[in-house]
Amino acid sequence: MINEKYRGVYVWDKRKSKKAGNHAYKNDDEIIKIEGGMPRIIEDDLFFKCQNIKASKIKPRRHSSHEYILTGKINCGKCGHSYCGSSAYRNKNNNMIYNYCCMNRKNKKGCNNKAINADKLEYAVIEAIRDTFQNDDAIKLIAEKIAII
Ligand SMILES: [Zn+2]
Repeated sequence: MINEKYRGVYVWDKRKSKKAGNHAYKNDDEIIKIEGGMPRIIEDDLFFKCQNIKASKIKPRRHSSHEYILTGKINCGKCGHSYCGSSAYRNKNNNMIYNYCCMNRKNKKGCNNKAINADKLEYAVIEAIRDTFQNDDAIKLIAEKIAII
């Protein structure tokens, strides 16, 4: 779908969810569209012609239902680039396995750090956060900061 802004249609709030990483769109009849709601930059004829060309070239994209909560929040220990949700596959038990991977490795830019299982990494990070916030010093510090606000 080519952005309808180009033909002056104001489109409001078409995402299903505001969560980061969720790019699913609402059904077309649920999306608020205002024809002429903003200045157009191309004519309808050209817009629909482009849209048809684009639609004929689009390959269906596999959407992962897994939300990689740490994407962009963790960095590679070897090169410092960000680790992002990267690969998913089915194991021999037919369960989906999700991984985070260094983007420098994924883009073949010289890093060889290995992919990390998403479930294990997310669990480890959640446990570390829990540990951090469950000691008395941290609780006292948080309580003080909240009290100041
Ligand atoms: Zn790396």
